[in-house]
Amino acid sequence: MKINITKTQSPKEKPQGSLGFGRSFTDHMFIMNYTEGQGWHDARIVPYGNMEFSPASSVLHYGQETFEGMKAYRSNGKYYLFRPEENAKRSNYSNARTCIPEFPEEDYVQAVKTLVKLDADWIPEGKDSSLYIRPFFIANDPFVGVAISKTYLFIIILCPAGAYFGSLNPVGIRVEDEYVRAVRGGTGRAKTGGNYAASMAALARAQEEGCAQAMWLDGIERKYIEEVGTMNIFFKIDGKIVTPALNESILSGITRDSIITLCKDFGLTVEERPITIDELVDAAGRGTLQEAFGTGTAVVISPVNKLRYKNKDIIIGTGETGETSRKLYETLTAIQRGEAEDKFGWCVEI
Ligand SMILES: *Cc1c(COP(=O)(O)O)cnc(C)c1O
Repeated sequence: MKINITKTQSPKEKPQGSLGFGRSFTDHMFIMNYTEGQGWHDARIVPYGNMEFSPASSVLHYGQETFEGMKAYRSNGKYYLFRPEENAKRSNYSNARTCIPEFPEEDYVQAVKTLVKLDADWIPEGKDSSLYIRPFFIANDPFVGVAISKTYLFIIILCPAGAYFGSLNPVGIRVEDEYVRAVRGGTGRAKTGGNYAASMAALARAQEEGCAQAMWLDGIERKYIEEVGTMNIFFKIDGKIVTPALNESILSGITRDSIITLCKDFGLTVEERPITIDELVDAAGRGTLQEAFGTGTAVVISPVNKLRYKNKDIIIGTGETGETSRKLYETLTAIQRGEAEDKFGWCVEI
């Protein structure tokens, strides 16, 4: 794929001090168009900046869009991506579910690599820091009727990022037992903005009760754990690692998959199976609910020290970050930063 590059004439100041997440962006962005009959065309990198859209643009009304989240790391003067082909593959799964044209996976990785390389001095130094990469697809027909769009944009933006919730600080999660995120036959397994639109009211309730995110139960029986806000969820119960088995209403996290691999490598028993909220309440009562943690690209591992369910707090383990959560975080971030052996071949040099 040929990518036309227009470099910025006025490079921005890099943010100083604590980086936070998702508010500052690098100097460039990648854009490519899709037009029916012509396919994907005009791959280009241009200075980062605001874009013009018709107010009728279909994504603004009906949310036909998908996105990804991935990270680039700096290590010994080299730059790495973590399992980028998995994001390219998942992106096509999400696109297929939302009728967005397929995008060639090698071109996807090439686009990410080319943009990150150009803005590589934005990859922050330091533990817990990385460059967050947000590729996304949007439907862009200037048409207010409900239809499958004939024109799309594929865009990639980059932001330097520190720790998401503050590295390894345990958070409280509210179990949402009224609203649901996704249903059987719905779009829960696709990474599409509509799932997040559906989640905001539960997030607001969680925050009102002092929690960081909402934990979703299944849409039919409201009893099986699905996932948490932006993360997949794991529990350590009586020495075993348990996580909900994937189904079409759970996002198939790349961090989830990597954590399962690492747990098995540590010699831990991992069970992917249905988990009910009652099982967790019981385990907590018996003192066997030892740890809970969310997994996702942005957070890596986010320890959970409290589940708030029906106005009661279920305290997990000692209420502090658990040993397995910490070991998984240290191991995965060391692999990502090139400080530990990459025995699963996850890191891709740019
Ligand atoms: C992106 C996402 C995750 C985590 O996926 P990773 O590939 O690990 O980043 C989990 N749940 C939801 C709803 C997500 O959107």
